[in-house]
Formats: sequence, C-alpha cells, structure tokens
Amino acid sequence: MSKKYISEKEGRRLICEIGRRMFAKNFVAANDGNISVLLSPRKVLCTPTGTSKGFMEEEDLIIIDMQGSVIRGHKEPSSEMKMHLEVYKQNPNVSAVVHAHPVNATALAVAGIPLTEPILTESVVVVGEIPLAPYATAGTDEVADAVRPLCKDYNGALLANHGAVVWAEDLMKAWYRMESLEQTAEIYIKSRFILGKANTLSTEDVSKLKKRYDIK
Ligand SMILES: [Zn+2]
Repeated sequence: MSKKYISEKEGRRLICEIGRRMFAKNFVAANDGNISVLLSPRKVLCTPTGTSKGFMEEEDLIIIDMQGSVIRGHKEPSSEMKMHLEVYKQNPNVSAVVHAHPVNATALAVAGIPLTEPILTESVVVVGEIPLAPYATAGTDEVADAVRPLCKDYNGALLANHGAVVWAEDLMKAWYRMESLEQTAEIYIKSRFILGKANTLSTEDVSKLKKRYDIK
C-alpha cells in the first residue's frame, strides 16, 4: 500500500492549528512541545525551536531532512526532532508525530507509571497501551534511544520526567491521540489514585473492542 503524503500548504495550516489547540488546552508552557509531519519519504515539515506553539505563523515552520538538517526555513529545528525522526525511521506507517507536556500524562511520567490499564473505550481504541520510555537527557541521542524500542508496537509513549509523545498515520489522528491520551491520564489518576478504585475493562471487553475497531 503506497503512503499518501499531505501537501506542504495543508501541513503548514494544520500544524499551526494543532499548535493553537495544544496551547489552548494547556498541554505546553513557554516554547515546549513540537509537531511534525512527513511531506515525502525524506522531507519533514516541523515546528522550529524557541517558538510558542500557540502563536506560530505558517512561515515559521521549517522543512528538514531525515538527518535533521534544515532544507527550508529561517529557524532551527528543536533538538527533540531527533525523537520524531527516530519514530519515522522505525515505523513506516507513521506520517505525523506530536510531542507535548500535558499535566496529567506528564505527572504519570514523573511518577514512573505507564498508561496501560484499559479503563475506557478510548484508551483501547484511540490511544492503546502507552508505555513509559526511560529518562533521557534533553537534546541528546538518548531521547531517540529511549523511544526506539516502542515505535512499532505502540501509538506513543510517556517520557520519564519529561512529557508524552504520540504518532499516527496523519496529523489530526496524532493530535486526537494526544488529546485522548491526556484525558485518559486524567481519568486514570482520578479513579485509580484519588478515588482509589479503577475498574478496568475485562480481557473479553478489550478483545471485543479490538475486533469491532479492527485493532491488532
Ligand atoms: Zn519536551
């Protein structure tokens, strides 16, 4: 099956839109977070470093190659783009990556708790099991090393003492996955740790859902 790529125009529009939503939902502070999408097998449109995701203009975005070198644009890529590139390299089905620091998902990441219990339909269908990637020093190759083993079998990861990253076949799907991940994390924390009781879906419920939505 050949992969469909988004046009550069639509990619710029959608990344800025997702950046605004990310900022509005308090998923990022200061210049945190980054968003990228594949324009072709070797070209990635992404957010630049040092820019608030809530106030990006389409021309602020840059295009990099698979080694992270800038092909087009005036700004520098975020050092976290190494993590995005690693996901693209490891999983040929992925066309978009979204990274943010949403409070609840990040709280789990700080506590060292993965988001793997099936508590909601969304946590099975939209998000899937989200494992915890080990702590990695920001800006180093450790970040790519930490997510490498998880790229093929999961839809995202909690990054220990850092935040969350998700990936998908297209940008909006990746964004919705981040939204659902954060909501699942909040409900999980409230039920499991505040109320002290989280009834999980049974193995049978989970397999029925997976069958219904054609999830492996
Ligand atoms: Zn980050």
